[in-house]
Formats: sequence, structure tokens, C-alpha cells
Amino acid sequence: MSDGRLERWVRPEIRALSAYHVPDASGLIKLDAMENPWPLPGDLRQTIAARLAEVPVNRYPDPQATALGQAIRALWQIPDDVGMLFGNGSDELIQLIAMVLGGPGRTLLSVEPGFVMYRMIATFTQSRYVGVDLRPDFSLDTEAVLAAIRLHEPAVCFLACPNNPTGNLFDADALRAIVEASPGYVVIDEAYTAFTDADHLDWINRHENVLVMRTLSKVGLAGLRLGMLFGRPELIEEINKVRLPYNINVLTQTAARLAVEQFAVLETQTRQLRASRDTMLDALAALPGVEPFPSQANFVLVRVPDAPAWFAGLKAGGILVKNLHGAHPLLAHCLRLTVGAPEENDTLLSALEALARG
Ligand SMILES: *Cc1c(COP(=O)(O)O)cnc(C)c1O
Repeated sequence: MSDGRLERWVRPEIRALSAYHVPDASGLIKLDAMENPWPLPGDLRQTIAARLAEVPVNRYPDPQATALGQAIRALWQIPDDVGMLFGNGSDELIQLIAMVLGGPGRTLLSVEPGFVMYRMIATFTQSRYVGVDLRPDFSLDTEAVLAAIRLHEPAVCFLACPNNPTGNLFDADALRAIVEASPGYVVIDEAYTAFTDADHLDWINRHENVLVMRTLSKVGLAGLRLGMLFGRPELIEEINKVRLPYNINVLTQTAARLAVEQFAVLETQTRQLRASRDTMLDALAALPGVEPFPSQANFVLVRVPDAPAWFAGLKAGGILVKNLHGAHPLLAHCLRLTVGAPEENDTLLSALEALARG
């Protein structure tokens, strides 16, 4: 029983939220969260296990994660004059950005449907959130975004490229127009960089207000929680001030560095996933009543005749996907299908085919 304290003291916008829901996937083929379906190869696992055994867990981790930083810079050829910051997942980086640039009286802007964390974290940080609708084909409504930028003068505009949950890239000219028109900063969220040739790292040099965010989550290391933010060093330094000192634990620092030093192993897997995605797009397009949308990510958004029923049907068949029906009007009867291992994709396609043929 509450004595009224909770109602009095928990901020109303927090009480109005529901906690981020992660469905139970036990016993199911898990195609709901854009994870890499494969474990790390055995020899890399052995190497990591041996090194983790030596890690001094009685000591605080390196607050700057220096060795990991060097490995990441080497991997993506990040010049020393580009600032870099690590987060406990890119979710934490979004939070740090919002703490520094958002807040009461400030606006964070993104597109809808888009990544739900931008809106959630805007609420957590008492920032105003403006979501500009995409067009029905999920392309940017550039005029609408530019008008919203003029009207609201957002401190930050978040754009995921490719976008989640739609899977498409945004037009580069539209993106550039938004960057140039923004009085604040633009975060280009490249969570799916492994699955596309599009790359915006060099935009940091060309535009003073661009930040690029990446993560190891979608390439096979979701459990480690490591996100990276790149941008002009002056701004990265400001954001670094609100980061809690030891946000990247020592086990993650060690394991991620070893995995990054052998990134080719993960790239073999992501290449396979890209090929499977393209195969899956063709197979989905051939199913009656199923409309797949183009994807540059490791998932495919599809519109089906009855998404809640198909979601339930897939789940009854042992497959968990993401039902987006009800999340946004543009996502009516849409399901998001993560690309899995070939045998998982085959099981999914057979189940969808059975549903499509009624
Ligand atoms: C998955 C995802 C992230 C979150 O990544 P973490 O590093 O696991 O926190 C960020 N942005 C987008 C667009 C995503 O889809």
C-alpha cells in the first residue's frame, strides 16, 4: 500500500512511463533484437577466456579505456584529432548527449518511426521531444524536418542511418541539408554500420556539428555493452564530463579489445548476414500478401495482412520477432524480422509461407 509518497515525489512523467519491456525468448528462435546469431569462434573465445582470467577485478578499470581506444582507432582508422568517447552501449551515449545538450526548455528532435530510445531519454532528461514523421515509404520528409528545425531549434537531431525499425538509409543530400540547417548538433547513429557501405565518419571533418555513434552490439557483442561516439574533440570533452568515471568495466574493456583486434572474424559473420538479408528480401517479396521494405541493416521490416495474428502464429511456431503494429500509424501491420543463421531464416520463411497461404 502506498502512503502517497510515491505519487508526491516520483516525477509525473516517470510515473507515466512503462519500463522498457524485453519479452522472454526462452525456447524460441530469437529474431526480435538484431543480435548476431552466432557465438564467437572457439579459438577467439579461448583467447578471451584466458585473458579475462588474468584481469585484476579487484582494481577499478582504466577510466579512459586507453588500450581499447587504440584498438578502435586502428580498426576504423580514426585520426587522433577526432574525439572519441565510450558508453555502456550506445544507449548510454544517447543519455550522456541528452544530459549535456538537452534538459528543460530544450528540444531533441528525431524522426518517427525511429529508434525509441531517443524519445525515452528525452523524457528522462526533461527535454522536449519532437518526432517528425517519415514519408509512407520511410524516406525523410526533408521539408518537414527543416520546418521543424526552424520552428523548434533543436539542441540535437538524432538520425539513425540505416534507420531502426525501418531498415532504410536516408538520402545523403537530405541528410546534408539537415546538418547545414541545424543550429545545434546532429547525431548520425550508425548502429548498423556493419551491414551497409554508407559511412559518415568523414562528415565530422566537414561539418562542425556532426557526431557519429557506433556500437559493437549488432556485430556479435551485444552482451558486452560497448558504444562509441565520435566528434569534434571540444564537444566530446564536454560530454566526457558527465560520464561516470568507470562506465566501461574491465571485463568489457579486455574482451572488446581482443575481439576488435580480430575483427575479421566478426566481419565474416556480418558478410554472411548481409547475403542472407538479400536472399530473405527476395524470398519475402515472393510471398503473397507480404510487403518487405528495402533494408541496409541486419533486419527486414515487412507489412503483412494481420500483424498481431502473424506474430502470434510465428510465436506458436517457436519464433520470436518484433510486432510493430500499433507503435506508429506508418507501421500498421508491420513486423520486424532480424536476420539470423541460415537454418533460422529457413524456419522463419517456411512459417511465413504457411501463414501467407492461410
Ligand atoms: C540497437 C541500436 C542502438 C543501441 O545499441 P547499444 O549499443 O546496444 O545500446 C542504438 N541505435 C540504434 C538505431 C539501434 O538500433
